[in-house]
Amino acid sequence: MNRLEGKVALISGAARGMGASHARAVVREGGSVVLGDVLEEEGEALAEELGTNARFVRLDVTAPQDWTRAVDAALDDFGKLDVLVNNAGICTMGSLFDYTLEDWNRIIGINLTGQFLGIRAAVGALIDAAPASIINISSTQGMEGIAELHGYTASKFGVRGLTKSVALELAGRNVRANTICPGTVATPMNEGLDVSGFNPMNRKADTSEVSSLVVYLASDESTFISGTEIVVDGGELAGHGPLIPV
Ligand code: NAD
Repeated sequence: MNRLEGKVALISGAARGMGASHARAVVREGGSVVLGDVLEEEGEALAEELGTNARFVRLDVTAPQDWTRAVDAALDDFGKLDVLVNNAGICTMGSLFDYTLEDWNRIIGINLTGQFLGIRAAVGALIDAAPASIINISSTQGMEGIAELHGYTASKFGVRGLTKSVALELAGRNVRANTICPGTVATPMNEGLDVSGFNPMNRKADTSEVSSLVVYLASDESTFISGTEIVVDGGELAGHGPLIPV
């Protein structure tokens, strides 16, 4: 409790799934949160549920002017911005024979360029509030590929690179930047996907199992952690199962 007392966070894609869980965790830990999403009804409802320490703004992460509005909302309503969580994302798939340029540009625009635009819009406020923290959500697909997940895999590898260049530029300003690479998590994004055998725990993570890491990276408990990625994957990337004698 109160690990984020006095902190103000802006979370993209916060209307549902992991973003909503992170928003709940920030408020539970004593912080305030601006929820940004294209899903207005869900976002407004969550902000109302969370009370005076939360507000919703319509945010399409591909639109620079939406980002400016979201950062202004944090400054106007809560006085500063300490934490940016670049969480919004989509997942599309298709073989090389039918994944179109439009598919590619859309996912890169949301999953990668959207994070760059968020950092650009927030950087001034984060420096003013420093010590501050940027948390970029990648995926285990930012560490290894999945067949036919070309745009998703490329965008999530890109997020890790962006985090490193940002962390290096902002280290001297006391703004940290880190990447979280979740494995498979129970959210609307992967509803209906069979993930049995995908990780050795043989289950999807609960969103709270990622939110606890978001709280840690947002807090002053992690002041020497920057420019890195932390994997939350139930052992998915650890290796292979036993060798079976033939
Ligand atoms: P989700 O689909 O439940 O939530 C994603 C949110 O992003 C939604 O609220 C959606 O409206 C929002 N969004 C989509 N496009 C947007 C845009 N242009 N502007 C603003 N908001 C937009 O999915 P989730 O699983 O909660 O995903 C959250 C993040 O975690 C994503 O970046 C995703 O790639 C990543 N991730 C998910 C998993 C998983 O297994 N669910 C695993 C690893 C990483």
